[in-house]
Amino acid sequence: MRAFERPFCGSLRAGDIGKRVELVGWVRRRRDLGGLVFVDLRDREGWVQVLFADALRTQAERLSGEDVIRVVGTVAARSGGNVNPDMPTGEVEVAAEELELLRAAETPPFQVEDRDNASEELRLRHRVLDLRRPEMMRNLALRHRVTFEIRQHFHEHGFLDVETPILTRSTPEGARDFLVPSRLTPGSFYALPQSPQLFKQLLQVAGVGRYMQIARCFRDEDLRADRQPEFTQVDVEASFIEEEDLYALIEGLFARIFPLAGIQPPATFQRLTYRDAMERFGSDRPDLRFALELIELAPAAATCAFEPFRLAAASGRVKGLVIPGGAAFSRKQLDELSELVKPFGAPGVVWMRRTTEGYGSPVKKLLGDEGIAAFLQAAAVAEGDLLVVVGGAPKVVFAALGALRIEMAKRGGLITPGAHAFGWVTDFPLFEWDDETARWYATHHAFTSPNPEDVPFLESDPGRVRARAYDVIMDGVELGGGSIRIHDAELQRRVFRVMGIDDETARRKFGFLLEAFRFGAPPHGGIALGLDRLIMLMAGRDSIRDVIAFPKTTAGNCLLTDAPNVVDASQLDELKLSLKS
Ligand code: ASP
Repeated sequence: MRAFERPFCGSLRAGDIGKRVELVGWVRRRRDLGGLVFVDLRDREGWVQVLFADALRTQAERLSGEDVIRVVGTVAARSGGNVNPDMPTGEVEVAAEELELLRAAETPPFQVEDRDNASEELRLRHRVLDLRRPEMMRNLALRHRVTFEIRQHFHEHGFLDVETPILTRSTPEGARDFLVPSRLTPGSFYALPQSPQLFKQLLQVAGVGRYMQIARCFRDEDLRADRQPEFTQVDVEASFIEEEDLYALIEGLFARIFPLAGIQPPATFQRLTYRDAMERFGSDRPDLRFALELIELAPAAATCAFEPFRLAAASGRVKGLVIPGGAAFSRKQLDELSELVKPFGAPGVVWMRRTTEGYGSPVKKLLGDEGIAAFLQAAAVAEGDLLVVVGGAPKVVFAALGALRIEMAKRGGLITPGAHAFGWVTDFPLFEWDDETARWYATHHAFTSPNPEDVPFLESDPGRVRARAYDVIMDGVELGGGSIRIHDAELQRRVFRVMGIDDETARRKFGFLLEAFRFGAPPHGGIALGLDRLIMLMAGRDSIRDVIAFPKTTAGNCLLTDAPNVVDASQLDELKLSLKS
């Protein structure tokens, strides 16, 4: 039998009964029972029970976990009581006729399938063994099928898959670059791409028209739980398009890939402006699986006796959240609400409720029953529910109530298991002000086109300029984002200037883009989807490391290869580098 004609151990089914098969794989478990030896033989697709009798028994008795063997045998039906409905191959077993030990294994540092008894550190160090777990193999297989469909989708829409350089110049996505010293030009450095942003735009000026790439990107950031220093992005760019073209393209893509994980997205996703997302849900990637919207309380707050609310109503926001059934919260639960919002810069929450005993609130003395009633009425709070109010700077109020909204939905069981909500968030602000450095930054990136209606305010009121940028979200997670780009060198320079990048600096850093724009730049735009996170969600995992074959720890280390690591002095010499001690 030729190698690629062999069935996988894990793919044998009742339909294979009677077939003579050759199997190769790893010994998952061996049991010696009543004169027979049973071996669970594992491969990428799962495992199947193999039976060794008679002459093969003695040889099989010597097998141990993770030994690599080849077996020839006949697929047989398991007798009635031995059928195992919990495993895909549970209706069959293979009666071995030949056994060859291809390579014996030493005792592994942990049992491959016993995930709970080995720390993640140990499993990352022995990633090879960890990947042997059927679940990990399923994740890799899902990733393969999804990327295959992605390529197919874009191919069918006339996109070309074009590779862009890894050794390149800094791309301004706003993170720190990984640098690679150049040996041939000592003292000079390449930057690893934070994204192929500039190249995909240059490809549009070149006339490629429709570009896609499953691109590796690198950002030297302090890592959070679901970030990796290198990650994969489905990178897309096209010419002569508008937002609607892109939305339809990505909705079509999702309709194609999500069913691979048993999820059926709607044909079109709901739309939400950034402003609405913030005002109604307190987040630019709201979880739309449940309502629980923030309620505007500025009118009630403006005339109330509680000064912090009056001030916030005048210069910030006063907003509330109605927690169903919250009127019954214990003192401890009420105190906890304040603890939940403190990490977001809010001093705490003010709660208000009406029960059979009358009105209740920590500010009741100050506001009186009437004052409390005004708030409860404004928020249409029913008896039994609790109103939680936060006042302050908009950023703080949104973050605090946005987080509380999610937490309360989780605790209150407001998220239907298996439900999903997809959406587009549009009309992001083009710039964000940073107090620390006292300058404007691009919310998306510097190449995003302003909304033409707002261009007159670029210099006079940058904060009000909307961007032609969009994010695609699912269940409170940002899956990707993109924008229609600037394709006019002069407008690009104006945008740079707002961000404090003068013409000379712009020429030095992005001269090649500005120059390309001089010779016929088509209108263009694109998007990038975070592939790792997408697969993680599809696979129903909560660690991104479960869907990357060789991931790094949150400290940026590869425990398998022990990278990063020191290099020889001679290598530094060649690069004309010396280390500061
Ligand atoms: N380059 C952007 C990013 O990596 C996405 C885009 O604008 O297409 O986030």
